[in-house]
Amino acid sequence: MPRRTKIVATLGPATDPISVMDEMIAAGVDVVRLNLSHDSHDRHRERAERIRERAVAAGQEVAVLMDLQGPKIRIGKFAQGQVELAHGESFAIDANCGPDEGDQTRVGTTYARLANDVRHGDTLLLDDGAIELWVDTVANGRIDCKVVVGGTLSNNKGINKKGGGLSAPALTDKDKEDIRFAAEIDADYLAVSFVRSGNDVRLARELFHSAGGRGGIVAKVERAESLNDIDDIINASDAIMVARGDLGVEIGDAELPSVQKRLISRARELNAVVITATQMMQSMIESPIPTRAEVFDVANAVLDGTDAVMLSAESSIGKNPVKVVEALDRICLEAEKAVTRSGHRIDSVFGRVDEGIAMAAMYTANHLGVKAIAALTETGSTVKWMSRISSGIPIYAMTRFQETRRKVGLFRGVYPVAFDVASTDIHEVNREVIEVLLADGTVQNGDLVIITKGDRSGVEGQTNIMKIMRVGEHKLLAGD
Ligand code: PGA
Ligand code: MN
Repeated sequence: MPRRTKIVATLGPATDPISVMDEMIAAGVDVVRLNLSHDSHDRHRERAERIRERAVAAGQEVAVLMDLQGPKIRIGKFAQGQVELAHGESFAIDANCGPDEGDQTRVGTTYARLANDVRHGDTLLLDDGAIELWVDTVANGRIDCKVVVGGTLSNNKGINKKGGGLSAPALTDKDKEDIRFAAEIDADYLAVSFVRSGNDVRLARELFHSAGGRGGIVAKVERAESLNDIDDIINASDAIMVARGDLGVEIGDAELPSVQKRLISRARELNAVVITATQMMQSMIESPIPTRAEVFDVANAVLDGTDAVMLSAESSIGKNPVKVVEALDRICLEAEKAVTRSGHRIDSVFGRVDEGIAMAAMYTANHLGVKAIAALTETGSTVKWMSRISSGIPIYAMTRFQETRRKVGLFRGVYPVAFDVASTDIHEVNREVIEVLLADGTVQNGDLVIITKGDRSGVEGQTNIMKIMRVGEHKLLAGD
């Protein structure tokens, strides 16, 4: 049985050699992430082109996800490169301090309005929470703090406010430029960082589409306040990312596990896809094997129902970019055996005919011992509805569109198949579909297969037929 959970791996210097890309593709990467917080456009373009080329050479589809930097608020630089802060000392973040004039008493910031968003009594977390500052007084753009947890503080480290509430808009000028770039390289997904609401997502989509982009939008849930408006964010997005790095700093690490479970189940209920991200295999940046805790983290995300698990530094700058994909592959496969059937949307009303067919197909498949589902699809929406339901049955997205084949690669349990319905005789479609599944060993004589399609094949949103066929007998039957 093929792995259902999808693997997203960030590309970087460690994955640049062609041999590494080839091995990662062979190990089963479904989506690559290009992180626009680092590197030049030229470098990203090269990576996107190369991975697509290598995937095609291997006869596979790999989707490209471009991840915007977003308004990550940072401190400026220190004249000496870094300072040591000790518990109880005074230290200020000061918008009036020059970008590289930080010293033992204060440092500048990339967000000039930071002082407007914080008050006496707030907690600021620097360097992903490694350093904690308690805000004493705020005046004239200067935030005077007491060091609660000290340590080494070096140039350009990130700043988060505990509990959220920093007002920087989600899309910076750099992001807007990067959106045009993402459209230019025809990214399959665009990830938007630090979204506050559905409006941030809708704006990103509008900019992406008006620049010619065709891909889906991923909302990164990494701000405390995004949890207040989560349904609107999910409904505005094709997928969400549980961005545990920044989110954990804002809401506290102890809250993360329950929030992850809630986000995954809500995304599935609302027909969105979900990626679980950050530090899943952190120790493998250095080590050839994961810790037990990491094995459990990945397996638990699979049991929670995530579509995909993501690698960041583990693949981009790690020592073991191929081994870490292999480890994810084997952990996901094993965890999937423990997944039970769901009662997903058992009480809900369906809004569309194609949605009704998708749900009926899954209900039947789960209760009739069907071997495979073949969905003739144009945009991939039928297979998205299907894959929101837990099941161990593979869903083949049969489409002539390469961008659809790449996009569905992120959906749990969905596998892309190139199939040109437009040039297939209308009376031959069922036979052809089964022949394709037979040819690659997916099904055998005697297996039951469900096919979903439309009377008017090759037209978007027209799925209105579910057909159940037994392999072997398909040769004898009439076309429809
Ligand atoms: P990042 O987002 O890696 O771009 O920071 C993910 C996260 O915050 O977890
Ligand atoms: Mn982040």
